[in-house]
Amino acid sequence: MPMFRYAGIPSAIVGEARQSMRSPQYGHPAHREVATGYGPCRHCLRTFRIGQEERLLFTYQPVQEPGGLPAPGPVFVHAGDCQRYEGPDFPPDLAGLPLVVEGFRTGGTLVLQERVSAEPPATVVARVLGTEDVAYAHLRNAEAGCFMARVER
Ligand SMILES: [Zn+2]
Repeated sequence: MPMFRYAGIPSAIVGEARQSMRSPQYGHPAHREVATGYGPCRHCLRTFRIGQEERLLFTYQPVQEPGGLPAPGPVFVHAGDCQRYEGPDFPPDLAGLPLVVEGFRTGGTLVLQERVSAEPPATVVARVLGTEDVAYAHLRNAEAGCFMARVER
């Protein structure tokens, strides 16, 4: 198996949203609430304990290259401190969720999209990242469409 690096959204962005209660990239107000859904938190990549944990909702744009098509969308993170997920293993809390894996080339252009169904998600990620021209991948929720995590070689 090749080595990959899975990561939640950058801690600097999450920290700024928690402190300013605004979207760091757009300035729209962030919304704080007790979790009514599983999430997951886009920073630690853990699902929320519904009815117990507080979360922050704000607009996040995950495509970082200036030439890429922006894909802003709502994301949830824990309202309180949590640790950014960063590691070689598929984030365990994401494994049961509806997922789409998107492969991008350097520069931010989308190359392909693959929905996870019968296979383990890590297998689909390996195939997308093994595709010619694909430099990195995004995991998105296949129902809501929103961004969940980034994967690099
Ligand atoms: Zn979290």
